[in-house]
Amino acid sequence: MNTCAVRGKPVEKVRSLLGQLRKEKERRGLLIGMMGCLAQLDEGQQMAKKFGVDVLLGPGALTSLPEALKANERFWDLTFREDVLDYIPPPPKGALSAHVTIIRGCNHHCTYCIVPTTRGPEVSRHPDLILKEIELLKQAGVVEVTLLGQNVNSYGKDQPGFPSFAELLRMVGGMGIPRVRFLTSHPVNFTDDIIEAIAETPAICRYIHLPVQSGSDRVLRRMAREYRRAHYLERIRKIREALPDAVLSTDIIVGFPGETEEDFQILLDFLEEAELDRVGVFAYSPVEGAEANRLPDPVPEEVKEERKARLLELQARVSLRKNQRFVGKTLEVLVDELPEPGLAVGRTYRDSPGIDGVVYVETDGTVRVGERIPVRILRADTYDLHGVQA
Ligand code: SAM
Ligand code: SF4
Repeated sequence: MNTCAVRGKPVEKVRSLLGQLRKEKERRGLLIGMMGCLAQLDEGQQMAKKFGVDVLLGPGALTSLPEALKANERFWDLTFREDVLDYIPPPPKGALSAHVTIIRGCNHHCTYCIVPTTRGPEVSRHPDLILKEIELLKQAGVVEVTLLGQNVNSYGKDQPGFPSFAELLRMVGGMGIPRVRFLTSHPVNFTDDIIEAIAETPAICRYIHLPVQSGSDRVLRRMAREYRRAHYLERIRKIREALPDAVLSTDIIVGFPGETEEDFQILLDFLEEAELDRVGVFAYSPVEGAEANRLPDPVPEEVKEERKARLLELQARVSLRKNQRFVGKTLEVLVDELPEPGLAVGRTYRDSPGIDGVVYVETDGTVRVGERIPVRILRADTYDLHGVQA
C-alpha cells in the first residue's frame, strides 16, 4: 500500500484496507507492505503493528524495497537514505507522461501540514541526475514531463553550485521534450526570474499551480503561510503580464480553526478578484502531530462542508468564464485516448495529466495516441473543452 497522511480520509482508508488484509493474511499468508507518508508517522506505525504489516518503508527509504521483498519477512526502514536522491527509476513502458522528482522535503512550517515531519527538510537532486532521467524518458517516447517537489521553486537553494529553479527550467525546456510542467510552487518565492524563464522557453507549459490556502490575512497568519493576500495578487498580476495565456490553479483549505464567516467572505471576494482558472478545495482536516490541532475555535464539520459547497459554486462560475476564453482559438492537443472512431480525448497545456480537464475532439479518424494535433475549440464546460481537429 502506498499511503498519504495529509488528510484524515486517506488515513481511514488505509485502516480499513489493513483490516481486510489482516483477515486475508490469516486465510492464505500474505506479505503486507506499507509505504508513503503514513508509514513515517507514529500513527502509521501503531497501525502497522496492530494489523501485522511486514514491510514498512518511509518516504526516505524507497530504495530499500528490493531488499525488503527479498527478505520476505518483517522489514521496517524509516531512515532517510541518501541513495533515494540518486535513484533513477526505469522509464514507464509506453507512457506519454512521466513525473520526475527534482526536490524532496519541505522547509516551511504551515501549521496544518504534516509533510515536513514525514518528508524531512528540502534536499535538491543533482541536476545531472535530473537531466539523465529526463533523457531516458525522452528516449522511451515520453512527450510530457512534470518536475515534482513540495516546493519546486526552492530548487537549488540548499546546495551551493546547483542551478536555480529558473535555470533548471531553461535547461529542461531545451531538451526536446515538447511539454514540461512543474508542481507545486510556493507563492512566497515565485520570483520574477521563474516567470521570465517560462516566458522565454516555449516547451514550459503556461500552467502554474500556486496554492494560496486562504484569501484572508488573519487565516494565512494562523496557518503560518509566509505571504499575505496582497503579495499573492501581485504575483498573479505579474504572471499574467508576462504570460497572458497562463492558466492559474490553486489549493484552498476551508474551515481552518478560527475561520469566521467574515474570513470566508474575504476568501470569496479574493476568488472573484483573482479569477483563477482552477481551484482544489479541502475541508480542514486535523492531522495528528500538526500544530493547528492545538488552535482554538474549531469549525464544525457541517459549516466546513457548507463553506466548501459555496466556494465550489462560485468557482464553477469563474472557471467556466475563464474556460470560455479558449472558444474560437486553435490549441495544440496531446491525444491520450481514442475511445471511438472519430473521437479523441486529449489535453492542452492547461490540463495536468490525471488532475484537470480534458478536450473532446472530433477527428478525421487517422490520429494516433501520443500525437499532438491542432484543435479548434468550439465549446467550453467548467473544466473540459470540446473541439474539432483543425
Ligand atoms: N507543498 C504544497 C503547498 O505548499 O501548497 C502542497 C502540499 S499538500 C501535500 C497539498 C494540499 O493539501 C495543500 O495545498 C493543502 O491545500 C492541502 N492540505 C494539507 N494539509 C491539510 C489539512 N490538514 N487539511 C486539509 N487540507 C490540507
Ligand atoms: Fe505543507 Fe506545502 Fe506548507 Fe510545506 S509548504 S508545510 S508541504 S503546505
